[in-house]
Amino acid sequence: MQRTEFTPPHTYHTDRRSPARWVASHARRHWPLIGLMLLGALGNALSLGYVPRLVGRAFDALLATLHNPPDALRTLLTYALAVAGVYLLRGALMSLRNLSAETLAQRVERDVRDEFYAALLGKSMAFHDQIAVGELMARATTDVREINLMFSPGLSLVVGSGAFLLAPLFYAPRYHPALLVTPVLFVVGYFGLLFQMLYELLPVSLQVRRLFGVLSARLNEVLDGMETIKVLAQERREIDRLTALARRYRDQMIRQIRIEARFLPLMWLGLAMGGGTLHALALFLQGRLSLGDVVGYVSLLQLFRFPAFVSQFAYSQVALGLASASRLLQYLNQENPLDQNLRGYAAPMRGEVAFEHVYFGYRDDEDVLHDITFRVPAGTRVAVVGPTGAGKSTLVKLIARIYDVRAGAVLVDGVDVRDWNLGALRSQIAMIEQDVFLFSKSLAENIAFGRPNASREAIEHAARLAQIHDTIVQFPQGYDTVVGERGLTLSGGQRQRVALARAFLADPRILILDDATSAIDSATEDKIQRAIFSVARGRTTFIITHRLSQIRWADWILVLDRGRLVAQGKHEDLLRSCQVYRRLFVEPAAAGPRREAHASSSPQANA
Ligand code: ADP
Repeated sequence: MQRTEFTPPHTYHTDRRSPARWVASHARRHWPLIGLMLLGALGNALSLGYVPRLVGRAFDALLATLHNPPDALRTLLTYALAVAGVYLLRGALMSLRNLSAETLAQRVERDVRDEFYAALLGKSMAFHDQIAVGELMARATTDVREINLMFSPGLSLVVGSGAFLLAPLFYAPRYHPALLVTPVLFVVGYFGLLFQMLYELLPVSLQVRRLFGVLSARLNEVLDGMETIKVLAQERREIDRLTALARRYRDQMIRQIRIEARFLPLMWLGLAMGGGTLHALALFLQGRLSLGDVVGYVSLLQLFRFPAFVSQFAYSQVALGLASASRLLQYLNQENPLDQNLRGYAAPMRGEVAFEHVYFGYRDDEDVLHDITFRVPAGTRVAVVGPTGAGKSTLVKLIARIYDVRAGAVLVDGVDVRDWNLGALRSQIAMIEQDVFLFSKSLAENIAFGRPNASREAIEHAARLAQIHDTIVQFPQGYDTVVGERGLTLSGGQRQRVALARAFLADPRILILDDATSAIDSATEDKIQRAIFSVARGRTTFIITHRLSQIRWADWILVLDRGRLVAQGKHEDLLRSCQVYRRLFVEPAAAGPRREAHASSSPQANA
């Protein structure tokens, strides 16, 4: 079982050892559909192969009854009815093949999508940090779709045309055993050509899918950064970059098409038809075959037209599907560094937090935090201060075990966070980041995101405490106002207060606030301040801040600089003892380029 951060809803396991095995393990679950598809394909080919036999016999019977027109007419009618009957049957069987293949394709696509989505949600933040959203989107949409197309029309046609290769092998000996030669040679040559094509095609298909991922990741980034691009007037350059990627994608597509075009089963078909006809005529001249048999056999060979025509398309569709499967598997199989630790410690949290010689880096070769040690009792209000890039956000993320430490330990209530049940740990910690994310749902649903069944009263109570109630009731639909994508209709300060209401409703024991919002007018700042104070009451609170009022309010201050905890203590003591701290708050003129304008100016404003 793969390690994941939550239990995915699907109840069966898939074989993730190779793309083909993985797709097969999804398809296997729908074996009755596979059976029906095979039955339809084989039945279709065998009944269609029987038609030349009937026509040949009709030919012979007609020749024998030519002297007697009424007899000839009756014979003709009988055979005509038989041919019509076989065609009807064939139509039904073909529909059966198509219908079951299409149903199978839709079901497998759904299952694959479920598995992929669940896996994405179960991946750690370390995983999501590394991968561009556009790349994930490409895989979750078009690659999943390719798996569908791989079954229908892809595999449906592969199976269908495979049956059309078998039918002549089955019927030819009935005309004359020697006539088996041509179909056998055709089938052998056909597969030779096919394997050669697939061998060349598979890596190219993979490239095609890969470039599509790159292209869509780029597009996603452009759409995401639209404002920046416009402000810096970089539209031209972005268009050029996208065009260059689109060209590379096109070139790869053309390589794929060239390989497909070099696959010439039609020429092979021409040879088979010519050779087969000559062979049958020779047997006729030797008196070993009737004229009707010659006619029947030559039209039997026509069955090869179907595989010759569709195989190029059908097999490359399968190749594309396998390429997509391997791209999906790449993420599914990526090791998750964290797991949910279902049997881990789960208890109501008090909120005591301790770091013991913690080292951490996002990459193995670079530590962002060095040897951090501190301990705060439950209920402490902790301010984390330091210049930008000092590691403040990183430090607080370790508390909720968004990432695992490289060395040392983070303890909550004296228990290593790695020994906590991940769900129990995180559900008792609320984290409000600088960039508050609101979903495209109503405000009420956004506030209740962590407690979906909260009552309207509870939601409003939380909103009041977070100082956002008055703002919300001014919106036309009040709490039912739907937030635009990313909450763009709300200001930064309003979004932050919605997040505070959300946190209050979730009733965590530890509250983490990454409160770097600067440039807020003082009325709003005052509101946010009050919101924070009331939501934080009675909880261990970590607040990353530059505001002196919040720092004064804190019981304990951690001073970080370049990944090290350079000092900790109370405001007055730190002012006396810590140079970095003094530089941040008292000596703006002396501060280097790393200092934050807001940090150094706010004390003056507040003083
Ligand atoms: P602060 O909150 O003090 O500004 P951060 O904790 O955000 O500092 O960042 C500390 C260092 O870690 C910075 O050098 C930053 O570039 C790096 N960093 C932050 N987040 C990531 C991430 N997801 N992946 C890689 N590096 C990161």
